[in-house]
Amino acid sequence: MPAVRNAIVAGAGIGGLTAAVGLRRAGVETIVLERRSTPDRLLTGGGFMLWHNAVLALRELKLDEPVAGAGVEIVYHEFRSDRNRRLARWDVAPEAARHGAPALGLRRSELNALLMDAAGDQVRLGARCAGFTQDADGVTVLLDDGTELRADVLIGADGIRSTVREGLRKGHDLPLRYAGYTAWQAITRLRGEDVVPTGTFFNLWGRGGLRFLYMRLNEDEVYWDAITADSVGASFDMLAKSRREVMAEAYRDWPDPVPRIVESTAEEAILPIDIFDRPPDRAGGWGRGRVVLIGDAAHPMTLNLSQGAGQAIEDAVALVRLLSSHDSVPAAVAALEDLRLERVAGMVKTAWTIGAMGRWRSGPLCAGRDLFMRAFFDSVGRKQSYRQMMDVRF
Ligand SMILES: Cc1cc2nc3c(=O)[nH]c(=O)nc-3n(C[C@H](O)[C@H](O)[C@H](O)COP(=O)(O)OP(=O)(O)OC[C@H]3O[C@@H](n4cnc5c(N)ncnc54)[C@H](O)[C@@H]3O)c2cc1C
Repeated sequence: MPAVRNAIVAGAGIGGLTAAVGLRRAGVETIVLERRSTPDRLLTGGGFMLWHNAVLALRELKLDEPVAGAGVEIVYHEFRSDRNRRLARWDVAPEAARHGAPALGLRRSELNALLMDAAGDQVRLGARCAGFTQDADGVTVLLDDGTELRADVLIGADGIRSTVREGLRKGHDLPLRYAGYTAWQAITRLRGEDVVPTGTFFNLWGRGGLRFLYMRLNEDEVYWDAITADSVGASFDMLAKSRREVMAEAYRDWPDPVPRIVESTAEEAILPIDIFDRPPDRAGGWGRGRVVLIGDAAHPMTLNLSQGAGQAIEDAVALVRLLSSHDSVPAAVAALEDLRLERVAGMVKTAWTIGAMGRWRSGPLCAGRDLFMRAFFDSVGRKQSYRQMMDVRF
């Protein structure tokens, strides 16, 4: 790489690790700082969809095959109502053939472990980036134990509450935006192709601000994600009930296998996460000089397109390419946003709109939504979704 001999990446999430693998392969000496202190704490998390675009990006680093080997290929994306009516069923296999890459369902921990392996000994656990300063020749990164490290570029891949972003924006930033719902995600041991068949990503839309997504991860395990509007959440008596009881109550009348999936889940496996994003803006950009943001640090989006990690992977691949092709780091940093902003901003907006429709509570409104999905989702909805997803630039 002409302009970069060494790099520091803040954050060993999916974006940071992908960038580290790419830099390493390009011969750049790289350190990844991760605030969490043990790999087991880093390698936790629920299940995950990686759509075709993310797999194509991973192919740039020859990681697509190992990742595919760790997951299952998703061949149908099925939308149903809480009355068990099929609203749409996307046949994903022909899309995989057309785009030359599968859509995958896998454990987040498997993806992280594969990326950690590929990143090698570059990851420093228990190392929290506390700030940085930069000059014309390089960037100095400060760790919270007082250590200082110097490199040609700092990549802020430190997630939705990014310290590197704070350092860049210095208080001039739009606040995170609460989406008005919580995602309760879990992996449960539940065998049986008759209960949850392999290869279908089920996406259930209900009345009363409730949704439920699930898919089989392997012979033994099913991943699920219950999305509950805040108005629903407020009615849960969280102090008196366990998470599992809250979920069982909310989804009691939903069609089989939803209550069975919840019932099979261990209390400690259920992790509720309030969902936030950040409306896209240009104030301060994704980077300045020798410091650049990728993934959720640059553009957190709600989970509704299953694209947050996909976009973090695309960012990482794009950045490595730009650093390879530009003579100066600041020029590559500026080029990343020019290349990626429009695509990612479109996804942030679409994901927000889908999430807002999921919060609808009234029966007639939800019935109208069902009708709309039945009429348009197999045709127009799928076409638009694929157009947005596959308009890849990295
Ligand atoms: C419920 C749910 C389901 C989702 N499902 C999908 C899906 O199916 N498909 C998909 O593509 N996306 C999905 N997403 C989105 C996806 O999880 C994120 O977009 C993705 O993890 C972002 O990756 P990242 O590397 O940018 O950040 P993160 O994964 O958040 O990683 C940031 C890392 O930085 C570390 N860190 C933070 N601060 C510091 C610091 N100061 N110093 C050092 N280290 C630091 C953190 O510990 C963490 O390891 C989902 C999100 C949620 C909430």
